[in-house]
Amino acid sequence: MPNKTSETIIGIDLGTTNSEVALIRNGAVEVLEIENGNKQLPSYVGLDEKGEILVGEAARNQYVLYPERTIKSVKRHMGSNEQIQMGDKQYSPQEISAIILRHLKQIAEKACGESISRAVITVPAFFSDTQRQATRDAGEIAGLKVERIINEPTAAALAYEAGDQNDNIILVYDLGGGTFDVSVVQMDQDMVEVKASHGDNHLGGDDFDQKLIDHIVEFIKDKYDVDATDSARAMSRITRAAEETKIALSSQAYYTIEEEHLLERPGKGKPIHLSLEVSRTEYEEMISDYIDTTLEAIHTALDGAKMSASDIGEILLVGGSTRTPLVQQRLESDLKIQPRIEVNPDLCVAMGAAIQAGMLNGKQLGPILVDVTPYTFGTSAISQMFGMRYPHCFVPLIKKNTPIPVTFSQSFYTSYENQTEVEIKVYQGEDPDAMKNTEIGEFYLKDLKKLPEGSPIIVTFSLDINGILSVTSTEKKQGVECSLVIDNAISRFQEEELEQAKNTLRNLMQDKENPKETEDQKNREHIKATALIEKARKLLPSLEGDDSEDAVDMIKALENALRKEHPNELQQAIDDLSDLLYYLEPTIEP
Ligand code: AMP
Repeated sequence: MPNKTSETIIGIDLGTTNSEVALIRNGAVEVLEIENGNKQLPSYVGLDEKGEILVGEAARNQYVLYPERTIKSVKRHMGSNEQIQMGDKQYSPQEISAIILRHLKQIAEKACGESISRAVITVPAFFSDTQRQATRDAGEIAGLKVERIINEPTAAALAYEAGDQNDNIILVYDLGGGTFDVSVVQMDQDMVEVKASHGDNHLGGDDFDQKLIDHIVEFIKDKYDVDATDSARAMSRITRAAEETKIALSSQAYYTIEEEHLLERPGKGKPIHLSLEVSRTEYEEMISDYIDTTLEAIHTALDGAKMSASDIGEILLVGGSTRTPLVQQRLESDLKIQPRIEVNPDLCVAMGAAIQAGMLNGKQLGPILVDVTPYTFGTSAISQMFGMRYPHCFVPLIKKNTPIPVTFSQSFYTSYENQTEVEIKVYQGEDPDAMKNTEIGEFYLKDLKKLPEGSPIIVTFSLDINGILSVTSTEKKQGVECSLVIDNAISRFQEEELEQAKNTLRNLMQDKENPKETEDQKNREHIKATALIEKARKLLPSLEGDDSEDAVDMIKALENALRKEHPNELQQAIDDLSDLLYYLEPTIEP
C-alpha cells in the first residue's frame, strides 16, 4: 500500500466541452489517453437504450438523436439548484459531473495500476465559491478527495512555465468549445495571482461551427430548395462536417465538404450529394465579429486589473479554438505580442493541474519539452508597407515557437493579367521586409495557361520533426503544382547562427575563448607600452621641432590608452609610438 505522500494525485481539467486527466510520471507531465489515441474526453453523459450510463464519445455520438437522454455542458449549471433530466430521472449538476470525474479516475487507475483517491481540479477564474464548492462535491461523489481547486489560467501559466522576472504579467486567453474567458495573471516567484478576469459563458468554437452550419443549410436551400433542418440525421452529419471544415481551415486555405446521400429529394429522384468548397477567407468573415468580442473582453479585463496592453509580458493560448489562425493574428496585431502556442492548448490546463498535484506530493518535475521551430519561415508578396505598395512584404506562414510537425497553407493572388508563372521565394526571419530576412530557397510555378489577374495560388509550408521544410505551390483550377524541399531548414541556421555568434564574440572579446592566453597578451602589451614610453621620454631632450611635439603627443596618447585599457586603442598607440621611434632612432643613435 503506497504511503500518503507518494500516492499519485491526478490533475483534472473538468471542461465544458472536453475534460482531461494528467499526472506526473518519471519526472514528466503526461496527459492520459482516453481511447483510440485521443486524450480528450467529450464532457457528455448519457443513457443508452438499455439505461446504461454512457460517458464521452459514445454519449456525444447519440446527442443529436437522443437529446432527452444525453447531457452536455453540465459545467454551465454547476453551483445552481437546477435538476437535470436524463431519461426518466433527475440529477444534480454535481452528480453528472461526478460521472465524468469517475470515468477519468478509472482511466488514471488503469494507466498506473493503482487505486487513485486524490485530485487537483481546475475551475474558471470567475467561478464563485458556490460553483467551486459544487466542483469539490462532484469530486467527493466520484470518490476523489479534492486536494486543491485551482484556477484554469493559473494552471495554464504553470504548464507554460510562464512569467520570468521581467515579464510577470500574463494574459491567458482561453477560447474553448462553448466558453471564452480571458484573465490577467501576475506571477511572482511561486505566487500566481489572477488580477482580473472577463469572458462570455456562451462564446466559443460551437458558435464558429454554427456559422458554417448556417452556411451549408443556406447553400442546400438555394441549390436544391430543400430545408435540411427538417432532417435530424442530415443535421447531425452537417454539424460534424462543419466542425471538420473549421478544423481543416486552421491549416488549409480551402476545404471541400463532401457528404454523399445527405438528403432525399421528395419526388425529384436522385438524393442530394453535398459538395461545397469553403475558403479560409470566407470562413474568417463569418467569425470576425466573435473575435472582435473577445478582443473587447481583453480590454475590459485589463481595465479591471488597472493595466494597459503595454503591461502584458506574455500571452498564453488555451482552448482548442485558439488554433484558429485569425485568433492568433488578431491578438498579435491588437496587442503587438506574438502569443505563445507551444503547449497544446487543449491539454495545458490539465498539465498545469498535474504539475500542481505533483508539487503537493513533492514529485520532481523536469522541464516540459516540446519540439518547436526556433525560426519563422515565410514567403514574400506585394502588399502595403509604410502606406506604399511594396513587392517584398514578408508573409510568415510558420511562426517561431510553433510546435512541429506543422503544415500551413495560405492563398496568394496573381498580380497581372495573363500571368503564366509565379515566383515563390522562401525566407527565414522576422522582419516585415522580406529583403531583410534570409532567403533560403526560390522556385517558379511555371507552364500556367494565361491566368487572369487575382487568380488564387495556394502556398503550403510543411515543417517536419527533422527540420525538413517542404514548400508547395498550387494553382487550383489548372491543378499545376510545384515544390521545393529544404533539407535542414532548422539545423542549417542553428549552425550558421552559431558560427556567426562565435565570430561576433571573437571580435568583441578579442578572443576571450582562452582567458589565460588573453591575460598573458594583455600583460605583454602593458610591458611593451611602458618600455616604449620610457624609451621615448629618454629621447625627448635630444629631439627638436615637430619630432619633439609628435613624440610628446604620442607618449600622452599611449598613457591614455593604458589607463583606459581599451585593447584596440592601446595597440594603435603602441604602433604609432614604435613607428616614430623607429624613424628617429637612427638619427639619434648612430
Ligand atoms: P476545448 O473546449 O478547449 O477542448 O476546445 C474545443 C473546441 O476547439 C471545439 O470547438 C473544437 O472544434 C475546437 N478546435 C479543436 N481543434 C481546432 C482547430 N485545429 N482549429 C479550430 N478549432 C479547433
